[in-house]
Amino acid sequence: MHPLHATTSAPESTNTSVLEEPLELLELARHLGPEERERLRQIEAHAQAHIRHQSIEPWNQETLPLHMLQPLGELGLGELFTGDSSQLFQGLAHAALARADVSFSAIIGIHNELIVGTIESLGSTEQRQRWLPGLKRLTTLGAFCLTEPEHGSDIAGGLATSATLEGDQWHIRGSKRWIGLGTVAEVAVIWARDTADGQIKGFLVPTDTPGYHAQKITHKTGLRIMQNAEVELDLSVPASALMPKATSFAATSEGLRGSRAWVGWQAVGAQQALLDLARSYALNREQFGQPLAAFQLVQTALATMAGNLAVSTALMGELTRLQEEGRLTMLRASLAKATLTRLARESAATARDVLGGNGILSTHEVAKIAGDIDAIYTYEGSYGINMLIAGRALTGVSAFV
Ligand SMILES: Cc1cc2nc3c(=O)[nH]c(=O)nc-3n(C[C@H](O)[C@H](O)[C@H](O)COP(=O)(O)OP(=O)(O)OC[C@H]3O[C@@H](n4cnc5c(N)ncnc54)[C@H](O)[C@@H]3O)c2cc1C
Repeated sequence: MHPLHATTSAPESTNTSVLEEPLELLELARHLGPEERERLRQIEAHAQAHIRHQSIEPWNQETLPLHMLQPLGELGLGELFTGDSSQLFQGLAHAALARADVSFSAIIGIHNELIVGTIESLGSTEQRQRWLPGLKRLTTLGAFCLTEPEHGSDIAGGLATSATLEGDQWHIRGSKRWIGLGTVAEVAVIWARDTADGQIKGFLVPTDTPGYHAQKITHKTGLRIMQNAEVELDLSVPASALMPKATSFAATSEGLRGSRAWVGWQAVGAQQALLDLARSYALNREQFGQPLAAFQLVQTALATMAGNLAVSTALMGELTRLQEEGRLTMLRASLAKATLTRLARESAATARDVLGGNGILSTHEVAKIAGDIDAIYTYEGSYGINMLIAGRALTGVSAFV
């Protein structure tokens, strides 16, 4: 009998069977073929052995150990999006990374969805040939520059960075904010408004171009490993820097839709880590002469987290089927992203309570994960904006303004 059934079907206190680590409530990986299962196993093993504990000190120090990215390139994580791997494999790989550290999964997610994916689908042959080989090996890093200091949620209408074509040169001027890897990337995908036709267009700009200045944003309470930057732009690039298919804001939408689905997988991985940590702590810490796990309130906390995780995992599993059928709508992606990050936040607060005072120490991981979840609740469209997208689809009424 599956251990989950053994535990749930016989509630008597004599039944002491405990689910084995790693906890896999729905065993989604069983739907993968043997090759992808093995690849996933390697990613999971690497993430747990070489990222999870090794990421705590960099998180405390707000630093990105770049050397930790190289092995991820060797595991194929620089080209998750473009290979022939299944959507389910890609999702489970994102979750496996997030289970070890959410910042590394954010770096890999943005890299695949918004950098490699954007260049692959919108870039010229020359741009693809120049940038993709290094990006796919993760020896080259990219930054996705959309958000601005004065325009976050209203970026589509408000984007103020300008691009003016004079002769065979684009002059790009403006400011960007929150740009992941803005300080360490070699290439930037920059979104700017063409002063000639008012359309938002996408450019590929080497970050050593004179006039590209990035300043690390410090004092973040989440995703502290992932370096975010304020970027000042006052530069000129050849006409060929424009990505030929990135000639309106709609061009970014497909990428953003895929990205929201990927953040759902981050929420799955983070919840898995929270449940692992809270359960292990509850089994090992004794109060009143008993393990915390023996108290009904603590079991309710663990079961609530397990329920959130199971719902999240099931939804993401189903979403990958829709993705494979080309039916991932913005409604589905937004609703999943918003709902799963909300559930992840709830589980983070619950796990933090199970750990008592240790719940606020980053060295016990839960506080680190909770901070990271707070950040993913906001990026790729804030919780509120994703709910408004869902609300508009449900009612036909736009409540944005
Ligand atoms: C850690 C991190 C990494 C990021 N990485 C990148 C990156 O690599 N590249 C990039 O371009 N951007 C990045 N972002 C930016 C991110 O996409 C924005 O933070 C996000 O879109 C929200 O914008 P904002 O922070 O300006 O919040 P605001 O737009 O100012 O929103 C503040 C609050 O107001 C609410 N709100 C806004 N408008 C409405 C409305 N009409 N109705 C109701 N409520 C509303 C929002 O839901 C939110 O709760 C990142 C952000 C973070 C935190």
